[in-house]
Amino acid sequence: MKPSQSTYSLGLCGFPLGHSLSPVLHEKALQISGLEGSYTLYPIPPQPDSLQRLALMTDKLRSGELQGLNVTIPHKQTILSLLDDLSPTAQAIGAVNNVYCENGRLIGENTDAPGFLTDLINLPLNADKRAIVLGAGGAARAVVYALIQTGWHVHIAARRVEQAVELAQALSGSFPTGADYMISSHLDQTTLQKNLKNCSLIINATPVGMEPHVNENPWLENLPLPDGICVYDLIYNPPETRFMRTARLAGIPARNGIGLLVEQAALSFKKWTGVTVSSAEMACGLPEIYQDDFRRQS
Ligand code: NAP
Repeated sequence: MKPSQSTYSLGLCGFPLGHSLSPVLHEKALQISGLEGSYTLYPIPPQPDSLQRLALMTDKLRSGELQGLNVTIPHKQTILSLLDDLSPTAQAIGAVNNVYCENGRLIGENTDAPGFLTDLINLPLNADKRAIVLGAGGAARAVVYALIQTGWHVHIAARRVEQAVELAQALSGSFPTGADYMISSHLDQTTLQKNLKNCSLIINATPVGMEPHVNENPWLENLPLPDGICVYDLIYNPPETRFMRTARLAGIPARNGIGLLVEQAALSFKKWTGVTVSSAEMACGLPEIYQDDFRRQS
C-alpha cells in the first residue's frame, strides 16, 4: 500500500512518558521511508478527567489532525469506550496500544501481542511451554493472549487476584484446546514455588522496576530462580531492572522489553502509513545502549 498522506502526525498518550523511546523509533521510520512527519508525546496522567483528555486525542484522529496514536500505561483499556471498532486481536485481548481512523471510524489495534511473539523467538527457551506472568494489566493481557495462542500454559500472578480472574475469563474464548492457566497472588510463595518446576519463562508485566520503583523487585527475592528458566522484563528503562540483575547474578538469562517495543512499533508504523520498515532499521534510531541490547537480544 502506498502512503496516502503528505505529512504524518503520529503520537503516544499515557503516563509517565519521560522514558519513552517511541519518538526516536518512529522518527527513524519516517526518515527511512522518506515520509514527512513527526511523533509527539501526549502525557495524560491517571486523573478523574483522563477520559475527557483521551477524547480530545481521539477527536484529533477523527478530524485528521493525527494519523496514528499509540496508547500506553495506564490507558490501554480506558480508551476502549471511545473507539468504534476493534481488530479481532484487540477485541480478544480487551486492550489496545494503537488507534487510527479508517473511513471515519476509530479502530483500536493491539500490536503488543504479535510484537511480543516475534521477540519471543529470540529467547533461549527450553522446550517446556510453561510461563509465569506477573501482573494482569493491559500489557499482561497481550502477553497472556500471545502465549496461550501459541500453546503455552500460563500462571498469572497478580497483586489483585480478581484482576487476574477477570483477565482469564475475558480470554477464555480465545484458549485453543489444550491451553490452560492458573492464578495466584504475586506474593503466594507456595504456589509460585510449585509452578516454578518445569517453568521456562517468567515475565514481568508490572511497572515494578521502572521509575519511581527502580529499587523494587516484582519477584519474591527469597524465592530462588531455578536453572533452565529465562526472565523477560517488559520494562526497558532502566535497561537492567532489579529483577533482571538478580536473575543475571544467579546465572539466569534475562531480557528487557526493548525487543517488544521495537517490534510493536514496526507493526504500528505499517498500520498507519502502509510502509514496511523493518524492526532492525527502526532500532537504528535508538540510543547506542539500546541498539546493543536489541542486537544482542535479536
Ligand atoms: P497497567 O495496565 O497499569 O498494568 C500494570 C499491572 O501491574 C497491573 O496488574 C497492576 O496492578 C500491577 N502492579 C502495579 N504496581 C504493582 C506493584 N507495586 N506490585 C505488584 N503489581 C503491581 O500497565 P501496562 O500497560 O500493563 O504496563 C505494565 C508494564 O509493562 C509497564 O512497565 C510498561 O512500561 C511495560 N510495557 C512495556 C512494553 C514494551 O514495549 N516493552 C509494552 C507494554 C508495556 P493494579 O491494577 O492493582 O495496580
